[in-house]
Amino acid sequence: MDTWGIDGEAYIAAVRAGAIDPHGYSAAELQAQLDDCEREWSERLALVPDEQLDDLIAGRIELPTLPEEPEHPNAARLRADEQFVRRMQALEAQSARIEGERRALMAEHVQRVVELPGDAGPAVKELATMAAVELRLTQGGVMGRMTDAWNIVTELPAAHEAAESGRITIAHLRIIEQQTRALRLDARVDDEEKGRVIDELVELAERVSTSRLRAGAKQLIDEVLTEPLQQRHDAARAKRRVEVFDAGDGMADLVLHGPALEIHAAHDRLTQAARKKAKDDPRTYDQFRADALLELMLAGLIPDDHHGVSPITAHVAITIPATELLHGDHQEPALHDLRFPAVLDGKVLVDRDTARRIAGDTATWERLFTDPTTGVPVTADTYRPLEAQRRWLRARDGRCRGPGCAKPVYRTDLDHTTDFAKGGTTSIGNLGHLCRADHGLKHDTRWRLEQLPGGVLRWTSPIGQVIDDRVEPAGPVFKDVAPRALDSGASREPIPF
Ligand SMILES: [Zn+2]
Repeated sequence: MDTWGIDGEAYIAAVRAGAIDPHGYSAAELQAQLDDCEREWSERLALVPDEQLDDLIAGRIELPTLPEEPEHPNAARLRADEQFVRRMQALEAQSARIEGERRALMAEHVQRVVELPGDAGPAVKELATMAAVELRLTQGGVMGRMTDAWNIVTELPAAHEAAESGRITIAHLRIIEQQTRALRLDARVDDEEKGRVIDELVELAERVSTSRLRAGAKQLIDEVLTEPLQQRHDAARAKRRVEVFDAGDGMADLVLHGPALEIHAAHDRLTQAARKKAKDDPRTYDQFRADALLELMLAGLIPDDHHGVSPITAHVAITIPATELLHGDHQEPALHDLRFPAVLDGKVLVDRDTARRIAGDTATWERLFTDPTTGVPVTADTYRPLEAQRRWLRARDGRCRGPGCAKPVYRTDLDHTTDFAKGGTTSIGNLGHLCRADHGLKHDTRWRLEQLPGGVLRWTSPIGQVIDDRVEPAGPVFKDVAPRALDSGASREPIPF
């Protein structure tokens, strides 16, 4: 503990700026150690009586040690919890830095051989093979990593730097890389706009969990892509297919690639059937769903024509901006050009044609209409109209309200924030949706939950971390040109059905 010189603060500043501590400690950990050390010194100094201070300074007596008090088991547990979290954080940042260094190295050398005269492909391959034989890895694998690294460093420099400095994890970087592929390929979006979106994603990645980053990225990117979701969806829909993969042990996988809405509906229908299985049926939901689907496939009738989604009786929530339904050929051009995807279960963007078909359909779809200027739900429409409170809360929450959780609201249950048994009321300000795992987090662990005004759920961990879970707008939010188009009055019309 006496190793701290007067340069402790300067050393920590250097680590914060990117220097690697030989013991692998992060700046926050070093700061905590320094604070502990200083606190201990001042406590030990306070034990020295005034008349002995001269002896101490002259080195004739030692600084007394603090009396050892046995640590209470709860305090010891909290200290160990805290240490674990800080260590995880430090190691994650450290591995992000090392990964960043490797990425920068690979990108630099790909760039070096790309700039050589001649064909770049064989040159990169030659270099990758040299590294691969040394590492006993496959040439294709190393080459893939090198080109990925080069792509990230050249096309996502802000994300690369954030990961390299440990501000975002490698998992966050990977999501940014995946989700921006279409954007980076879109030649009609200029570089400045691409840079702005990437900056926004990095900023988001510094604040939210990976699942929320993925959902946020989808919306953010859809707004700037020049090819509307409808066109992309139509092209992607043309590639729908069913494939079989052998899986060994006498098993195989049947993979259906199709429109998200129908696939979710189909899965939900299987789940609903599983919920109704007999009490003595020992099958798990997974097993029941698999059996039911096979039964349908093998014994059901294949229709002569495509019926669309109308025969589906599954229960899927879809968020539709109110203006979405106003689109029609007679609409003014300004409104017609706007692209507002509907959102399935708060996650998957749904193209306009499907959204309108669903909106016009009968009662089994939960249709949630959002205010186009704020994205906040304005009204819900469901087959259980008497449950006004439930509908409002579902609209407000849209997903599980657990820390970092993004499970859709249909995988959750309503929870009294303050338990009913402890005097909590059944009111909007005391209810929130939690998935089973987060319900357990609240009831079976030392995490605490309270609800603040505005539907903010405040989670407090045993070691004092505070996570304020705020609800995102449920629908896309108007920007730029949109408010003017709306002021024309078109959106003030009642929803047309
Ligand atoms: Zn959850």
